Amino acid sequence: MSATKHDLLILGAGPGGYVAAIRAAQLGLNVACVDAEPALGGTCLRIGCIPSKALLESSERYHEARTALSAHGVSVGDVSFDLAAMLARKDKIVGELTRGVEMLFKKNKVTRYQGHARFAGPGRVVVDGKDAGEITAKNIVIATGSKPAPLPGVAFDGDRIGSSTEALSYAEVPGHLVVIGAGYIGLELGSVWLRLGAKVTVLEYLDRILPGMDSDLATEAKRIFERQGMTFHLGRRVVGAKAGKRGVTVQSEGAEPLECDRLLVAVGRLPNTDGLGLDAVGLATDDRGRIAVDAHYATSVPGIYAIGDVIGGAMLAHKAEEEGIACVEGIATGYGHVNYDAIPGIVYTHPEIASVGKSEDDLKNAGIAYKKGVFFFRANGRAKALGETDGRVKILADEKTDRVLGVHVLGPRAGDLIAEAAVAIEFGASAEDMARASHAHPTLAEAMKEAALAVGGRVIHA
Ligand code: NAD
Repeated sequence: MSATKHDLLILGAGPGGYVAAIRAAQLGLNVACVDAEPALGGTCLRIGCIPSKALLESSERYHEARTALSAHGVSVGDVSFDLAAMLARKDKIVGELTRGVEMLFKKNKVTRYQGHARFAGPGRVVVDGKDAGEITAKNIVIATGSKPAPLPGVAFDGDRIGSSTEALSYAEVPGHLVVIGAGYIGLELGSVWLRLGAKVTVLEYLDRILPGMDSDLATEAKRIFERQGMTFHLGRRVVGAKAGKRGVTVQSEGAEPLECDRLLVAVGRLPNTDGLGLDAVGLATDDRGRIAVDAHYATSVPGIYAIGDVIGGAMLAHKAEEEGIACVEGIATGYGHVNYDAIPGIVYTHPEIASVGKSEDDLKNAGIAYKKGVFFFRANGRAKALGETDGRVKILADEKTDRVLGVHVLGPRAGDLIAEAAVAIEFGASAEDMARASHAHPTLAEAMKEAALAVGGRVIHA
């Protein structure tokens, strides 16, 4: 162990923690970061966002070669894939990025400790593991992230019944994959294995997919996923599952048991706050394990802060990053702020689904009068050239002021297109501002401009 006294100690090296560590070091603090894993980057880099995107990309290439290239006049003959090569490519990308964080720590002089951290008292943390010892710091940020939520009656067995972690590394394509939960993880990882040839059945408790996302988009997305071959059973509450030698039997309330080869449980995530010794500093969590913080991410204990998945809100890497930066800027300068209305959420299916700001339901519930502009990708020239005409852009603006309140996109590269909307909301733009900005032709982004024009009843291509 090197120096054990720091200005700031960050618990957890995920996107919230490592970004906060780097920003704090830039601001001149003596910073350390402790993480139990040998590889830095947290769930997102190791077993979440990055490996899932690598597999989504590879499986989409295969699927496209099989089903879409002929429409472009491209013949590829028999198409096959090498799952081991796909998994190795994914692991290589993860390795490069996690080592990249290590380099960034060195460059910014962030001290890194490996081991499990727990509080021993205010300003004191004990590390068990490789870098065992006690660390003291004036300020401590809890950024320990989250873990897959278990489902009562469905015990993870690390093999046939697993979470996203296992579903990122199945050694062979399951004949039948049952997914519990039609949220981000269920739809993304369900899509990967569907494209590679699995039969995929999604069991969802609610009467819709993607709770929280714009409901028009969710309805259209479900139709598209069904066309791709995914089966949905909505209103289906799973109450138990049992793994045998040859497969898994899944029990749902009021329905026949379902047999499958593998079961992916994707019913949400829980904060990683147990085992942190919060008692030692008098810090409590709510019944879901979340830590309460004020607008500066300060907990009820002076000198202890918390950010990211442990404080609730959307469990998104970039939300944790923004909070990490605002938190340490607050510690170092007294100022730090996150605009939660400008944090996008993206589901990386094909097509992608992206949202930022308020949904129609949010606005209705809040009694805010709004106007709406919608533009469909089928009328966008670039989407036609790509052969990707499903989906739409929907812009919601204040009825009186025209200020953009929410933007929702289902369609090709929606995840990249939404960045423009996030900037518009951050700058307090009106729909007219978006409509007057020149968007190059022919691009998918023109659909954004047209939807903004539609807010004012001036759409050109519809
Ligand atoms: P989620 O909250 O997105 O979806 C969980 C789904 O499971 C919900 O639709 C819920 O109604 C359903 N469900 C709960 N209990 C059930 C039961 N007993 N039977 C059937 N259905 C049930 O959760 P997730 O997909 O597990 O993802 C976890 C977190 O990870 C999310 O908060 C998400 O923000 C994050 N994540 C984000 C991305 C991304 O940004 N692209 C990708 C993956 C995960």
